[in-house]
Amino acid sequence: MTKIGLEIHCQLTNLQSKLFCSCKANYREFSPNANICPICVGLPGSLPMLNQKAVEKATMISMALNCKIPEKIAFFRKNYFYPDLPKNFQITQFDAYGPTSIGHDGKITIEGKEIRIRRIQIEEDPGRLIYEGMSEKTQITLVDYNRAGTPLVEIVTEPDFDNPKQVRVFLNILVDLLENLGVSDPTLEGALRADGNVSVEGGNKIEIKNVTSFHDLEKAIHFEITRQQSLVERNIPIISETRQWDDRRKITVSARKKEEEQDYRYFLEGDIPWVKLNSDHFKKLKEKMPESIASKRERYVEKYGITTQVADVLSSDKYYADLFEQSHDEKNAKEIANIITTDLMGFVDTREKRETSKLTHQHLTELANSIMDNKITRNSAKTALQEMVSTGKSLIEIISELDLDNVSNESTISSIIDEVLNEEANAVQEVKEKPETVNFFVGKVMKKSKGKADPSMTLNILKKKLGIT
Ligand SMILES: [Zn+2]
Repeated sequence: MTKIGLEIHCQLTNLQSKLFCSCKANYREFSPNANICPICVGLPGSLPMLNQKAVEKATMISMALNCKIPEKIAFFRKNYFYPDLPKNFQITQFDAYGPTSIGHDGKITIEGKEIRIRRIQIEEDPGRLIYEGMSEKTQITLVDYNRAGTPLVEIVTEPDFDNPKQVRVFLNILVDLLENLGVSDPTLEGALRADGNVSVEGGNKIEIKNVTSFHDLEKAIHFEITRQQSLVERNIPIISETRQWDDRRKITVSARKKEEEQDYRYFLEGDIPWVKLNSDHFKKLKEKMPESIASKRERYVEKYGITTQVADVLSSDKYYADLFEQSHDEKNAKEIANIITTDLMGFVDTREKRETSKLTHQHLTELANSIMDNKITRNSAKTALQEMVSTGKSLIEIISELDLDNVSNESTISSIIDEVLNEEANAVQEVKEKPETVNFFVGKVMKKSKGKADPSMTLNILKKKLGIT
């Protein structure tokens, strides 16, 4: 039997400052070692101050993952040496005196399977090491402490996954959940990192580290299952160790013997007092908690009759959900949902495209209402939508500039139909025996009118002319 567990590190990217000082949490915009202060590099005499907002965001994550939250939380020092860790210890949470981390014993259900959350803890991110140089002999390592002290939440699951696919589904759901909570932007490089641990046939646990993407983590877990199974078949013992993912060769390689928790000599961080989480804290947070993805999905289906599939796409992506919430009313909700999930998705499928998009929720309202009032065909609406995304112009401007207004003048459509019927004599014979082929002519008329002919009017006139019902 295969057992897989995960440790996910999520940066709280929406915070202003680091976890224990006032340096910027958004370290990405600085040149190396320009976003540091005595606290985050641990100079003598410096004292950490806990960022209350980080505790709030971490509590929200714990609530969303159905965790139990203790009344008091504590911080600990995890002692180890590594060049990216200026203090030689990391301030994190640890359950030495019962549960004092921000969350424990949670669960979420994915595709009918329950995944238990063992623990959620608040901790600081270390700095970054940058390797430069061509060969092994001339290689140098640069240290950038801009990231040191950035607020992180670590989510540790129980080993409840049976296969790599479940891991992928879970991570996708988790990313949507974190984004919906407004705590982290998963599209930022390094904002979300996951390590996996794998054991087969009740054997020792192997930890996989240094995987840069979720996609690679799935591959690494897959590789590790195969490797361990082949060892078991040959009666070779599996040693508990940490293995690194070699991105170039697509294999895991042994890194070091696995450390035990006691190796880190955890002790209480004396510079940060225990934090009491009173009921006021929870009450305020409950009010601030955004509506969950599941509840949005249910509301879209029940209130507006949107299909489950469309509601799924709409609710799980915060960008689309926000646009939908701002633009719709009871009447046009279905139309707007369709515009977003069929056409808009193709135009704003990356972070960059979303950032440069000029589309507003007013645009969507305008577009949906015009389709419903037959002022513009769906075909032309797609062209208009693309123009809105790239120029931000109003629908009226776009219609007149691109000549997109709906042709709903009966005599104009009628003369286009006559042209089509003349050109397609053979098909005219066929439609008399097979009335369902009438859509062929609708298509031809749409093409001739450059997508502007009103489709239902076209169909009615066609039927009349062809004498079919
Ligand atoms: Zn600092």
